[in-house]
Amino acid sequence: MTDHFSPLTLRYLYLLGYPLGHSVSPAMQNAALAERGIAETRYVKKPVPPEELADAVEALRAARCLGANVTVPHKQSIAPLLDELTPLAREIGAVNTILKREGKLVGDNTDVYGFLQALWVRRIPLKGVRAVILGAGGAAAGAGYALGQAGVKEIVLVNRTAARSHALAERLNEKFPALTRADSDWGAVGKAQLIVNATSAGMSPHPDKSPLPDAVSLERGAVVFDLVYNPPTTRLLGQARRQGARTIGGLDMLIYQGARAFQLWTGARAPVRVMRTAATAALQEMMLH
Ligand code: NAP
Repeated sequence: MTDHFSPLTLRYLYLLGYPLGHSVSPAMQNAALAERGIAETRYVKKPVPPEELADAVEALRAARCLGANVTVPHKQSIAPLLDELTPLAREIGAVNTILKREGKLVGDNTDVYGFLQALWVRRIPLKGVRAVILGAGGAAAGAGYALGQAGVKEIVLVNRTAARSHALAERLNEKFPALTRADSDWGAVGKAQLIVNATSAGMSPHPDKSPLPDAVSLERGAVVFDLVYNPPTTRLLGQARRQGARTIGGLDMLIYQGARAFQLWTGARAPVRVMRTAATAALQEMMLH
C-alpha cells in the first residue's frame, strides 16, 4: 500500500502476540480499512514476548493508537493489565480485542461471536447436542461459553493437562450449572455430535500433529470444527473426513471475529467478503513460503 500520510498523521491498530509470523490478520484488516476509505489507519503486528506485555499495554495509551487485537499467548494474561473488561471478556477470562473508550483500555472478546457465526452460517444445530472441546486455554473457554449460551446438552473438556480442563469445567459450571465435565479418556468423543479442536496441535509449523488419536471413532454425522486455520486443512480435519464427518476449518471464525473487531474500532460495517479474499490470499501466500 502506498502511504500518502506522514507517520505523524497515521493512526494504528496493533496485533499483540508472540510469535506472530503465522498471522493473516494484518492483510485482512488493512484490506477492510482500505475498502472503507479509512486510509490514515494501519493495522500492524507487534510481537511482544510475555515479559514485555505490561510495557506494550502502556504503549497502547498513545493517542495515535486506536485499539488492538490480542493473540496467543496473551489472551488471558492481558486481562488484569487493562482498565476495564466488558462483561463477556470478564466471564470468559480471555481478551482478543482492546477498545479505547474515553481514554480507557477496555478488553473485549469477539472470538465468541466468530465461533458462533461460523457454525450459524452453516446451520449447524447446537441446541441439545453433545459437544466435546479439545483444549482448555482461552479459545476453549470462549468455545465453552458460546456453546453454553447456544443451549448444548453437555460439554466434555479433554485436555493434555487435566488440571486445566478441570479448572475450566468448574468455571463454566458457575455460569451454566452442571453442563460441563473434564474427562481424560476419548470415550466422549465417539458419542459427540460436535467436536471442537481448541488446542494448537496441528497448527503450522507442526501440521503433522493432531489432537486426536487415529484409533478414536466418531459418531455418524458428527461435526468437527478445528479452530486452527493455518493450514486450512489440518490433519484432524483429514481424519474426520475419512470417517465421514462434516468438517469446518478455523478461517471463518478468524474472519468473523475480525469483522466484529473492525466494526467496534471504526464504527463502520465490516466488508466481510473483502476480508475473506485478503485472508485467503495471505494464507495461500504463506503456505507457498
Ligand atoms: P492457549 O490458551 O495457549 O491454549 C492452548 C491449548 O492447546 C491448551 O489446551 C494446550 O494444552 C493445548 N495444546 C497445545 N499443544 C498441544 C499438543 N501438541 N497436543 C495437545 N494439546 C496441545 O491458546 P488458545 O488461545 O486457546 O488457542 C488455541 C488454538 O485455537 C490456537 O491454534 C489458535 O490459533 C486457535 N484459535 C483460532 C481462532 C480463530 O479465529 N480461528 C481464534 C482463537 C484461537 P495444555 O493445557 O496441556 O498446555
